[in-house]
Amino acid sequence: PAAAGRRAIRELPDELVSQIAAGEVVERPASVVRELVDNALDAGAGQITVRLLAGGVRSILVEDDGCGIPPEELPLALRRHATSKIRDLHELESVATMGFRGEALAAIASVSDLSIASRCEGAAHGHRLDARTGELSPSARARGTSIEVRELFFSTPARRKFLKSDATELAHCVESVRRHALVRPDVGFAIWHEGRLAAQWKRASPQQRIADVLGEDFIEGSRPLAAEAGPLRLVGRVGLPDLARARGDQQYVYVNGRYVRDRQVAHGARSAYDDVLHGNRQPAYVLMIEIDPLRVDVNVHPTKIEVRFRDGREVHQAVRRAVIAALAVSRAPVLPEAET
Ligand code: ADP
Ligand code: MG
Repeated sequence: PAAAGRRAIRELPDELVSQIAAGEVVERPASVVRELVDNALDAGAGQITVRLLAGGVRSILVEDDGCGIPPEELPLALRRHATSKIRDLHELESVATMGFRGEALAAIASVSDLSIASRCEGAAHGHRLDARTGELSPSARARGTSIEVRELFFSTPARRKFLKSDATELAHCVESVRRHALVRPDVGFAIWHEGRLAAQWKRASPQQRIADVLGEDFIEGSRPLAAEAGPLRLVGRVGLPDLARARGDQQYVYVNGRYVRDRQVAHGARSAYDDVLHGNRQPAYVLMIEIDPLRVDVNVHPTKIEVRFRDGREVHQAVRRAVIAALAVSRAPVLPEAET
């Protein structure tokens, strides 16, 4: 029956292409929060506020004080593969922004009811674009952008059914902002849920931000890490064995400011604990890796949660050595301060 049933090849309609892309990028409200906060950071925001209703399922509003989008470009912001961040392959290879695929807003808009309000420096007023109707109207607001995403997955009930309770979705949203907050202490973050403040991190020093996000217990139970190894620079804090848990839910790894999951990095870090951590217990750490963008490919996963290092072994080694060094300092006896 296969031959008889052949159907002609057709190009999919734009809307469906975006919905398929949304399947990869937008799993739950927290994925929307991640994409919108990425955009706010790329826009140079100093303060980012996230407002949620019903764990983000009913509404997600992300407000920033960044550069804004001029009204004539608002429709483009929603178009697939339209971006202000890269122009050619060369810029892709050395990309330093969180975004570059020009896909997130189009994907999110295809599975929700989305609107953007924005105002650029020097503009007389702002503009608001409703993605569903295409209507562009004036909007009174300060410089920056607010993107509102209502009724996520309203058009795809099958997807909506996979969502968990509001409390669980809220927790994922907060975790998503926490990941940003750890690596961007120069930016203030606030998350509101149902009109109540759920979490807030004011601008702080890098050290203070880690304390604010992960708590004083983490600071007390961890040691600073700072190392340079060839083209790599590593900074962060590594938890002493006492901080280890059954779940590796306090492992924050960043590559050039981007939160990632990487098996080689995780393995390098875990191996540094081989002598002091037994069984399946997982160490806690914050590890920020800076590397020449040409030595890492960030374009391997739609959500960019994975990266590919040109020399993964080098990264593994550097992480392992840096963590061992940081832990060794903590075990050395405390010597009286040398007189100079
Ligand atoms: P990408 O971030 O990969 O470029 P997006 O779909 O997330 O793709 O966004 C499309 C474009 O819309 C961005 O390139 C940017 O120019 C603009 N944009 C989105 N959000 C903001 C924002 N908060 N502030 C300023 N510009 C934004
Ligand atoms: Mg983006």
